[in-house]
Amino acid sequence: MSGVGKGIASSSIAKILQAKGFRVTALKIDPYINVDAGTMNPTEHGEVFVLDDGDETDQDMGNYERFLGVNLSRVNYMTTGRVYEEVIRKERNLEYKGKNVEVVPDIPIEVIGRIERAAEKANAQITVVEIGGTVGEYQNIIFLEAARMMKTKNKDGVAFVMVSYLPIPSKVGEMKTKPTQYAARTLNSAGVQADFIVARSEVPLDQKRKDKIAIFCNIPSDHVISAPDVESIYDVPLNFEKDHFGEELLKVLCLPVRSKTNLDSWKRFVRKTKNGKKTLNLAIVGKYFDSGDFVLSDVYISVLEAIKFSAYAVGMKPKLTCINAKDFETGKIKTSILSQYDGVIVPGGFGEKGVEGIVLAIKYVRLKRIPFFGLCYGMQLAVVEFSRHVCGLKDAHTTEIKGDTKHPVIDIMPEQKKHMKDAHFGGTMRLGSYPAILRKGSVAEKAYGLTKIFERHRHRYEVNSEYVELIEAKGMLFSGKSPDNRLCEIAELSRKEHPFFLATQFHPEFKARPFFPHPLFTAFMKAAQKKSKLPLRNRSSTK
Ligand code: GLN
Repeated sequence: MSGVGKGIASSSIAKILQAKGFRVTALKIDPYINVDAGTMNPTEHGEVFVLDDGDETDQDMGNYERFLGVNLSRVNYMTTGRVYEEVIRKERNLEYKGKNVEVVPDIPIEVIGRIERAAEKANAQITVVEIGGTVGEYQNIIFLEAARMMKTKNKDGVAFVMVSYLPIPSKVGEMKTKPTQYAARTLNSAGVQADFIVARSEVPLDQKRKDKIAIFCNIPSDHVISAPDVESIYDVPLNFEKDHFGEELLKVLCLPVRSKTNLDSWKRFVRKTKNGKKTLNLAIVGKYFDSGDFVLSDVYISVLEAIKFSAYAVGMKPKLTCINAKDFETGKIKTSILSQYDGVIVPGGFGEKGVEGIVLAIKYVRLKRIPFFGLCYGMQLAVVEFSRHVCGLKDAHTTEIKGDTKHPVIDIMPEQKKHMKDAHFGGTMRLGSYPAILRKGSVAEKAYGLTKIFERHRHRYEVNSEYVELIEAKGMLFSGKSPDNRLCEIAELSRKEHPFFLATQFHPEFKARPFFPHPLFTAFMKAAQKKSKLPLRNRSSTK
């Protein structure tokens, strides 16, 4: 089922096979009609993870990239919409040569072709394919059909792993295997027999349950892999190795069984995740936290992971608090609460909700000299705040919210106007990797140690070039620009003005990796670390 950890299981499987010396890639299948994740509301679907080539994908793609340390591309991501779109395109182009085009087998054949192309592109020996959704759902049946067809064609080349949840009902106090038994049977009814079952639960599985699952689900008991809740998701590959998952998988795939798994650098990283002695208190002021009575942090998962990697790199343990910007607007909480934090991050977003709360928060951290890092919308709103309160443009705004503002300091990019007019919303933003040139001696350039960078983007609006001169004259520097000098990519205040006030039009979080913490996050973390060492009474002094 969704949220049970299929993404982490797939990433971890890929990781251990990679650590055994195989070339591995990973592919995600999302069984919905949307062509990509870009048009979905983040509170419903979670983060939209953007690839170098601009594909707007599922957050699991971020996990694959982070676990494997690779950059994936659009061939690694597929949705029902994408598959049907291609089959219909081919049909219109007479590529089926007058044949009847049927859901089965033509849709699964397209699915298989895509999996093969992803493997080819990565020159992979092993491709881990994650099928989203839940076994028994109507919508992922064509993908299970593709899986079944692949196994029939190449018995030794395909292994099936089912990830299943084993509940421990609090009144019963005992781990229950029955839902897993039924899931295995439902999978059987689609013609697929699991080779392995990853048993997700609160606690490790005992031998009795392993044996029971083995009998009822028709697999050897050493193919039942215990996957208890863990402190850090990065522990999962190490846990899988305890059950010799990698070796067993290689046996089923008839590949040379290499018992040695080189996870040394991974283990060193995992140790760092636990070694941080001091805590950094960080606040994320965002707008996509509510889902009924629950608080969602999935929406900003790459931001959270990027924070962790950089905090670990400076030897600290991050403690993250999510603050709903709307609460600053309604007065439910006061911005002065931000003085308790060592640093504040404003991540990306769209639309009106919470925007004025974010502007209030940015004003507070600018004046109180609390380390601030803004990402995409976070940068645009930092420019709005600065224009209003420092440049004297009282009604400065982004035209995303107020189309007729007197001072459109953030405005739609000219090439985006037509897309909006024609209601072409899907896949039409400024997406993916673009270069930026950094100003020598700036905070950004010092952090990167480079003058040319490549970062991933996802936006329609930009800093209005007509206001750049005025804003810079008042002290905000656009230290990163597109090579043609047209688009502002980074805004910052000098170190003399503020210990760390920097915001990016791009999303640096998408390129942060366990072994390569992102330099801007690390620079922010160092500033936050400095603040954390100040005695409490000096923590939020005005200059
Ligand atoms: N809504 C803003 C834009 O479209 C920012 C987008 C974002 O934060 N990713 O430009």
